[in-house]
Amino acid sequence: MAKTKPEPIQTGESRAAVLEGIIGSYQDSYYNGEGEISDGEFDRLWDELKTLKPDSPILRRVGMDAVDGFPKARHLIPMGSQDKAANPEEFRAWAEKTAPSVMVVQYKLDGASMELQYEKGTLRRAITRGDGIIGDEITRNARRMGGVLEKLDIPFTGGIRGEVVMTHEVWREKYPDKANCRNAANGIMRRKDGVGCEDLTLIVYDAAAAGNDFLFKDELEKIDWLRDRGFSVTVTQKFTDVEEVIAYRAAVAENRKSLSVDIDGLVVKDHLTDMTDLRRTRPERQIAFKFDLETAVSILREVEWSESGATYTPIGIVDPVRLAGTTVQRANLNNPDMIRSMGLKIGSPVTMVKRGEIIPKIEGLAPGYVPSPEEQDIEFPTRCGSCGSILEDGGTRLFCPKPDCPKRLLHRLEKWISVLDIRELGEKLIRQLFDKNRVRYIPDLYTLTAEELAEYERMGELSAAKVIRHIRTPRELSLAAFIAGFDFEGVGELIMERVVSAGFDTLDKLKSASVEELAAVYGLGEITARTILEGLDETAAELEGVIAAGIITIAPPPEAAEQPLRFFSFCFTGELASMKRSEAEERVKALGGSAKSSVVKGLSFLVTNDPESGSGKNKKAHALGIPIIAEGEFLAILEDPAKVSSYSRNPAEAASPGTAPATEKSASGGKSPKKAPSSQGELF
Ligand SMILES: [Zn+2]
Repeated sequence: MAKTKPEPIQTGESRAAVLEGIIGSYQDSYYNGEGEISDGEFDRLWDELKTLKPDSPILRRVGMDAVDGFPKARHLIPMGSQDKAANPEEFRAWAEKTAPSVMVVQYKLDGASMELQYEKGTLRRAITRGDGIIGDEITRNARRMGGVLEKLDIPFTGGIRGEVVMTHEVWREKYPDKANCRNAANGIMRRKDGVGCEDLTLIVYDAAAAGNDFLFKDELEKIDWLRDRGFSVTVTQKFTDVEEVIAYRAAVAENRKSLSVDIDGLVVKDHLTDMTDLRRTRPERQIAFKFDLETAVSILREVEWSESGATYTPIGIVDPVRLAGTTVQRANLNNPDMIRSMGLKIGSPVTMVKRGEIIPKIEGLAPGYVPSPEEQDIEFPTRCGSCGSILEDGGTRLFCPKPDCPKRLLHRLEKWISVLDIRELGEKLIRQLFDKNRVRYIPDLYTLTAEELAEYERMGELSAAKVIRHIRTPRELSLAAFIAGFDFEGVGELIMERVVSAGFDTLDKLKSASVEELAAVYGLGEITARTILEGLDETAAELEGVIAAGIITIAPPPEAAEQPLRFFSFCFTGELASMKRSEAEERVKALGGSAKSSVVKGLSFLVTNDPESGSGKNKKAHALGIPIIAEGEFLAILEDPAKVSSYSRNPAEAASPGTAPATEKSASGGKSPKKAPSSQGELF
């Protein structure tokens, strides 16, 4: 079965089917917070599918699409990824390393994460997981769900995190067409019209107060506090013995089918860990102890290379095998490095695991693998099928490096059309225009006339006029959407939202940013920063051309512009030369930042002209790893608040809400009397 040549590239329908499979599977892992794929890769797949098959049910199933989706909002409690243990051995290793004296063990709900944000006890926002930092605001939908409280009994300001779930009963009665409860919940909570949200329920497990409020000293108190407010909470138990937790996991796994909602493991936390520590500086204090995943063994028969823009992505074709209720024949291989690191060959027995429900992933060679002379090396394509350039093997990505490779240009056009959602301008028509050299670059679209379009095959005058009308309709795009439309490899709107919200909120600011500045944006890193800057450079003429055409404008920065420091806090020590401390604090507040009188965890900056003085604030800032900046740097931030992120750690950390100095207040104990945790939430 091994081929001498790499499989030809798929196009059209078969590619769309593959994409649907991949995206479906990633959606599940994505919403579980497993982050198997970068946002960039996900965006790329999404955009490609949207271009190929705009009416795909997968696109509707979870509207990741920000263009016609929900407004974005930032989480108060950033959702980092947590450690995972897939089996007792890994869990023991974690326990050995962290040595928790008391463990709080909770059911890990298998639904869709959501954060509720309260101001003085009133619900203000509900935000989906998104990328863990920024998600979609779905407040209206959330208000229809069970377990979402509009008003709390206390004037709490902060975030409450939980999982939106659908019970088995509701699923069986009303949504048996959905693959499972999680998919149903994911899809419904993101419906524009909110229909069906009343069939969903929120179960919570986390909370953090804004400012310095201190509400609970450990995880058990937190759960009690949430229950006292009237929320449904996840099942929570206390353990001291590691082996007991392992036995508990086995028992819960055995029994899980009889629960009313899906769970996919346990979350184990060191209950003595300070709330702020837990999530940010010491994520190792918490671990997801997952149930065993079903796996299957099959033989890798060939590798298909699917193309998207400049990138070639490997997909493994295996002998059909049953896995988690379906027959599978295709499995993700992700990229060349993955193939190499697993030592796969054509003919190798491989283990596959299914995290999502459509297309599984090859985990590696099957246990007990012995090399066989029958196996053959996997061949990578070497030349671009479109322009003939030698492909570049970047390890995590195999791609055509030629900037004006026709495939890349065409993909950019398609991406732009999908961002603008010009449905009438279908794939076929754009391809014709492209092949005739009439439209090669985005600005060319804006020179099209109805008369010339009408000459194209099957394009009547009326529909030509309609296409042109749509193209010419003035539109205001967010900067993030605008840049995403230029199709820089792996840079989708989610990533651009982060960049914009870090203060690079105009095209000029973006262009004049350095790699270092952009790389400092949380979650970006140098490669993506470079991709953005090189992309801007490469497409400079196109960018200008589009703007010059006068039809598409970039929206001015949102309120972020008025509050560029809204995620940052400042504390001052010693005298400032240029202004009084009170004035400095006022200026911080005027830009949306907060001024603190003491150094607390989560503080963004300590401002001082004497960083080496032995003052208590200096010492504490050092101990907590809080950036210390001089007055000059502070003034530079006031001058150009967009620069703030280049001075800080990531803004998400700086945004940390629960910044209680544990040492000061925990001595007096929590505010609510401690109760024995019940092991039963209402839903279990
Ligand atoms: Zn090429």
